[in-house]
Amino acid sequence: MAEVSRYLLSVSETLRVHAPGRVNLIGEHTDYTGGLVFPMAINRGITLSYTAADGVVELTSDGVPGVLSISLPFDSAPNAVEPHWGSYIAAMAAELRATQGLRGHVLSDIPAGAGLSSSAALECAIGLALGFDGTPLELSQAAQRAEHRATGVPTGIMDQLSIAAGVAGHATLIDCHGLSVTPHAVPRDIDVVVRFIAHRTLEGSGYGDRVAECKRAEDEIGPLRLATLDDVERISEDIIRRRARHVVNENQRVHDFAAALGIGDYVEAGRLITEGHASLRDDFDVSTARMDAAVDGIVATPGVFGARMTGGGFGGCIVAICQPGALADGWIVSPSAGARRID
Ligand code: ADP
Ligand code: MG
Repeated sequence: MAEVSRYLLSVSETLRVHAPGRVNLIGEHTDYTGGLVFPMAINRGITLSYTAADGVVELTSDGVPGVLSISLPFDSAPNAVEPHWGSYIAAMAAELRATQGLRGHVLSDIPAGAGLSSSAALECAIGLALGFDGTPLELSQAAQRAEHRATGVPTGIMDQLSIAAGVAGHATLIDCHGLSVTPHAVPRDIDVVVRFIAHRTLEGSGYGDRVAECKRAEDEIGPLRLATLDDVERISEDIIRRRARHVVNENQRVHDFAAALGIGDYVEAGRLITEGHASLRDDFDVSTARMDAAVDGIVATPGVFGARMTGGGFGGCIVAICQPGALADGWIVSPSAGARRID
């Protein structure tokens, strides 16, 4: 009898998991070539409250209409799931071969489809809620596979790994080849500001083309993570050469940015961020006129060290580093711990 009531108590208990969003400070479109990225998990994200339920996942979400209801184990095509956001949930349930389900509600304070990785936060949150108990790296790999299943977009590992392996007070330098995560303290005497500009989706965008273009560059000169600018100059086709040049320069910028931040040279760190945006705009062709104008406006503001579009591109958010209080418009974000169960 005591056993039964303990069981009833445990199945009806409300549990919570939280997965932060992330802002990528620098290192854009480098992850899928095994390059370097420098994101930080932020103090905004997705919180999932739920109770255990047998054989089903039933979820609602603030701000997104529809009730998601799927049966477990889930083994059909996740991208056919309605409402559409449920495809990430279904894909994660399929990846984890989950049989024990849940009923719950998703609360978020990061914009969806704006480059702060709401999709990866959702995947990591549902993964933990479905009982995943491996390492942060393993969680991120399952979540990345789920994202591929759900969207068909061949995104890199940065979003999921920075969210699963976030460290409070730190940004994370991730080597996307070796999958090492090295925390770097984020100085407290600068603001990291995120400003939302425009929604976008990577499905049907040029993202997949960029992955293919980098692959073509690698077919010609070998892995971009090992290439030099001299190697890049040997590439015959102009577009492919420009894509490769962005990746090679961006990997170097990640190194230099981490070093500049470490010695408190914020002018140099900001210069590198702004240079990174120019490279996304001119060599990688993933910016838009609206994002460029917003970056220019922010960079021209007194006290701003540098700014760039953050995330996969074609819209989204801008990240800036500046003197405290220099930017009134936007969210001052702080570096936070990774995806976790909370009381
Ligand atoms: P990003 O990850 O940069 O925010 P994506 O296009 O990769 O942009 O992912 C956005 C998608 O993630 C949304 O279209 C939606 O399907 C899902 N999503 C994000 N936030 C939520 C939420 N709070 N509730 C339900 N689904 C969400
Ligand atoms: Mg995403």
